[in-house]
Amino acid sequence: MRIATGGILHETNTFATGTTPLEAFIGPTSRDGDIDREWLQDSRGVGTPTGGFITASDEEGFELVPLLRRYPQPSAMVEQEAYDVLSEMLLERLEKALPVDGVLMDLHGAMVCEQMEDPAGDQLARVRRMVGPTVPIMAVLDLHANITPLMVENADALVGYDTYPHVDTYERGLEAGRLIVSAIEGKIRPVSALEQLPMLIPPPRQCTLRPPMSEIFDYVHEVEERPGIVCVTLSGGFPFADIHDAGASVVVTADGDADLAASTAREIATLLWERRDEFALHLSDVDEAITEAIASGEGPVVLADGSDNPGGGAPCDGTVMLEALIRHDAPRSTVAIIVDPEAVEAAIAAGVGAQVTLDVGAKTDDLHGKTLKLTGHVRLISDGRYTNEGPMSTGARGNMGCTVVFVVGDVEIVLTERRIQPFDTAVLRSVGIEPTRRLLIGLKSAVHFRSCYQDLAVKIHEIDTPGVHHPDVIRYEYKKVRRPMWPLDKDVNYPADS
Ligand SMILES: [Zn+2]
Repeated sequence: MRIATGGILHETNTFATGTTPLEAFIGPTSRDGDIDREWLQDSRGVGTPTGGFITASDEEGFELVPLLRRYPQPSAMVEQEAYDVLSEMLLERLEKALPVDGVLMDLHGAMVCEQMEDPAGDQLARVRRMVGPTVPIMAVLDLHANITPLMVENADALVGYDTYPHVDTYERGLEAGRLIVSAIEGKIRPVSALEQLPMLIPPPRQCTLRPPMSEIFDYVHEVEERPGIVCVTLSGGFPFADIHDAGASVVVTADGDADLAASTAREIATLLWERRDEFALHLSDVDEAITEAIASGEGPVVLADGSDNPGGGAPCDGTVMLEALIRHDAPRSTVAIIVDPEAVEAAIAAGVGAQVTLDVGAKTDDLHGKTLKLTGHVRLISDGRYTNEGPMSTGARGNMGCTVVFVVGDVEIVLTERRIQPFDTAVLRSVGIEPTRRLLIGLKSAVHFRSCYQDLAVKIHEIDTPGVHHPDVIRYEYKKVRRPMWPLDKDVNYPADS
């Protein structure tokens, strides 16, 4: 049994400044070079969907045929050329790999490119056309997928992450790998139904460690045990991709019973809708949060700067939180990370131990604070490499590029060359910072940091700072999303005919 695997993944923030070029996907590799041959062997034992596909292939004894997989950091609108080049390459490789018994895709579900609102659906549709109607295609999707009819029509099952922070990506890969074998062997006949909700849920409230999402997912898991149900995917959606199909959705896959799939999807969607008022935001004022932490003296207190979260496409060079920490002369404080290659270069030129004045941050746009002129000393210079130690993408390697710890007063700033989301404690430990000994830790992350910091922190504040990932969806000027849409509009009905 041979199963092809691959996917072009991106989470596109259509409100972010600029565009995302092909180079963001392929790095310095040449356009027609032999890109991405190692990703499959590098994924063995790693906490990712492909890691799960590999375990399934070991268990079930099928061969995984690698096509192409690329997944850059979330960012602005993807240039059409980037998607066209990569999708052509993926399809060419699939054509060469034929015949295959199935296709297992690793997709995100919230990618947008200049002339296409649903490149994930497009990939599934083109793969379907190539392999024909009888070869099973299944895909793992992010919990932030904006699931479309095109995706559902062209996949035999969509297996979405059940967690945010995304700590079950390996398990969902394994689940999809086992399901596709059952479908190939004719043991199940998957049929799916999609229920789209008129709801844009702010990402911090999609966190599955807290109600309402924790309780809704408990219910989803009970439903998955019912006879005839193959898989339930509940997607919170990615509200910062302004497309027609943005928003929360439910996909239920049943065994040969389309009516059961549809009624179950409606049931779960209704439960989500009925609890919509519980998705209200509770943000902290940054000055109040800092003052309170200094007064208590007990740490670590985490300040989550979700508005500048690179994991949602923000630039990660915002300075509002940093400026406040310095203004309060906060003791034992750390900000991770500020992406600023110029400041990194200047700090490296000055050298370890040197006193230097740097222009720090807010260079991408004027939506994330002002550039700060800061005098401090260079404590440490690193190659920026680390390996995730927490429960999310466990064992996966990260690379911040050249990285400097720059200290102003008692505030340590992790300045980096590259944009990554600092959700794992390994980011700090890799540059000699022990998070448990800090009073205040400012993180450019909305929710994923909770995978490591939920138990480690004495308190967590989601702070109210400006940015293109500010969780309050009412602040954004939507042009494409279907209306009416909660909470943008009044009098939204669900189901629409109710
Ligand atoms: Zn996500």
